Amino acid sequence: MKPKKRATSKYQIKCPICNNKKKKIIIWDSFIRSGNKSGRATNGGWISKPIFTPSKEKIYKCLNCDVGFLKNLRNNLEINNKLFRKIFDGSNSVKKYKSFNQPRELRKFKKIEKFVNFKNKTVFESNCGGGVLLDKIKKKAKKTVGLDHEGYRKYLESKGHLFFSNLIQVKKSNLKFDIILSLGEIEHKFNPSLFLKKLKTILSEKGIIIFRIPNYNNIYKFFIERNFLKYDYRISHNFYFSEKSLDFFFKSNDMDIIKKTGLHEYSFNHLIDFIKKQKRVSDKKRQNLVNENLNKLIIQNLENNMVSTSLLYIVKKK
Ligand SMILES: [Zn+2]
Repeated sequence: MKPKKRATSKYQIKCPICNNKKKKIIIWDSFIRSGNKSGRATNGGWISKPIFTPSKEKIYKCLNCDVGFLKNLRNNLEINNKLFRKIFDGSNSVKKYKSFNQPRELRKFKKIEKFVNFKNKTVFESNCGGGVLLDKIKKKAKKTVGLDHEGYRKYLESKGHLFFSNLIQVKKSNLKFDIILSLGEIEHKFNPSLFLKKLKTILSEKGIIIFRIPNYNNIYKFFIERNFLKYDYRISHNFYFSEKSLDFFFKSNDMDIIKKTGLHEYSFNHLIDFIKKQKRVSDKKRQNLVNENLNKLIIQNLENNMVSTSLLYIVKKK
């Protein structure tokens, strides 16, 4: 007879990033987002309906390193990226990827280009999807390599990129990279430290890794709190990082932080609209309360103060 599996007491659960047991609960026993349905392209961008978990979830926050984490960490989504995109975006076609990601990704890329020169570099993008960024980088770089689900191979190769569908194959290729991009990825990982270790093995001695991570301490949370967080918590995110927890994460993994800055993904008008309606709004055209120049200034301030929706970290090996 098998021994009965005992439920792990909350006192025994350690932070997956720093191993400390001190933590608090940041969400009540509650239903969190488990995906989207009825995804469709509209003039205002990709729109879909959020769906929620059938059972209640807990999210802890580590009182030592500040990271938030699901009590019940998921690892199934990591295995099949394409399945993941289907669940979460309602579709996984290259066309869908582009309509949803292209404008967003290119905006982020502009910011990255301010700090990183891709000229003549060997560049690797993990989780590259339809290769929006790789297409752009290819014009400057020596070599562009993408990693994603096998389903993207044909398309990526047709665009002249080298393609891999798992990190083991990349390692076996003996390629080393000057620049590695991992955007919007580590928060999904089951073990972010292990993932970073693997990336380090394919990074050249003086190479850099660029991470874009959603920022838990963002202006939406501060203004809207519960009515923002109830859409933001989701089973696809095992982790909720902040500046403090990212500083800890990179230092404890022997990485030097070369640059960190905020990266804000929506207009100031979007924030105001969300605050007024207290529910999710799309980023389509709306009555603008501030003009473009003032909008830019406000966003720059949010980014400088690290209260933007994402954070950008550029790191290298110690
Ligand atoms: Zn911790």
